Amino acid sequence: MIPGPVALSPAVLAAAAEPPVSHVSPVGIASFGDALRAMRRVWAVGDDHQPFLLAGSGTLAMESAASNTTEPGQRALVLVSGVFGDRMARILERRGVTVEKVTAPVGEPVSTAAAAEAMDRLRPHVVFVTHVDTSTGVRTDPGPIGAMARARGALLVVDGVCSVGGEAPPVADVVLTASQKALGAPPGLALLVASPAALQARLAQTSPPPLYVDWEEWLPIHRAYEEGRPSYFATPATSLVRAMATALGEIEDPAATVARHAAVAEGMRRAWSALGLRLVPTEVAHTASTLSALWLPEGTDASFVGRIGAQGVAVAGGLHSEIRARTFRVGHMGWVTTQPALLARTVRAVGVAMRESGLEVDVDAAVAALTEG
Ligand SMILES: *Cc1c(COP(=O)(O)O)cnc(C)c1O
Repeated sequence: MIPGPVALSPAVLAAAAEPPVSHVSPVGIASFGDALRAMRRVWAVGDDHQPFLLAGSGTLAMESAASNTTEPGQRALVLVSGVFGDRMARILERRGVTVEKVTAPVGEPVSTAAAAEAMDRLRPHVVFVTHVDTSTGVRTDPGPIGAMARARGALLVVDGVCSVGGEAPPVADVVLTASQKALGAPPGLALLVASPAALQARLAQTSPPPLYVDWEEWLPIHRAYEEGRPSYFATPATSLVRAMATALGEIEDPAATVARHAAVAEGMRRAWSALGLRLVPTEVAHTASTLSALWLPEGTDASFVGRIGAQGVAVAGGLHSEIRARTFRVGHMGWVTTQPALLARTVRAVGVAMRESGLEVDVDAAVAALTEG
């Protein structure tokens, strides 16, 4: 129950365990094509948007998005709601981009007013925002930011590593993610979908990105796979692609999957509240559906995470430097959202760990609160 890598469905596990296939075999080509088509469905975009599926983690997807949409000397605005915004800024700085960060107080997204003020002052070529920052559990609504960016002729890139599949799909020029979070596949794949305007920005570049993350290198390869033809640029992670195609296929109705994540998150919030636990995000409206970032219970320290682990449920410690020693995080995304027994076991493990820390809590009531809205 950590915020990635997440637990996988039996079908995804089985697909990942198949003997590796060649990337130019019929099975290899078909699963790659299936995954790309399914990405458009889950991202809720049309055929004019180009999905990319690369071997690498979410950070590689960030590199790819940053280096294909920006050039040295351009200006970028990064809206920071946790550690991953800072990471994006570092990536952009290495690309030689002039970066301005607007950082929200811990537990809050950057306000629309602050974002607008920075856009007017900086006139950025590209605006970067983290949809759900996994270090704070804060969700930022990309809608108003995208509208402001478009009105000023800037592109919007959304880091959706902890949101795609579990939150409503943003309208943006690039939405990137990784395989091991809400999409419910093993770690190892970087996924991103580019709009026509983002593809155009890459075409207009005079300083191309590093070869491996260059969309122009991958475009003909991805097109070939989608059209059922063999092609090669760099060997795809064929086993992971098969697992990814299976996981995406399990998201039969993306809107219903998003709604299920919202319902599970609401249940988890009721359970935390019944245990007297407080969330890091300051308002429900900007609290992620995919994970809970929680303050440690009164009188406990970081060893509390180990106490939960001793109950057979793995949760994560704090990640954000300002609150690391005072918080813990519970993921509830992907396949586990279809497993009420696992969610109940998680709440029970946290409750028992609290009791063992000398706190008086009603564990049964918290478990009941999960399903009693
Ligand atoms: C996990 C995460 C990343 C980094 O992904 P890796 O796969 O660990 O490289 C980036 N952004 C967000 C929002 C994340 O949750």
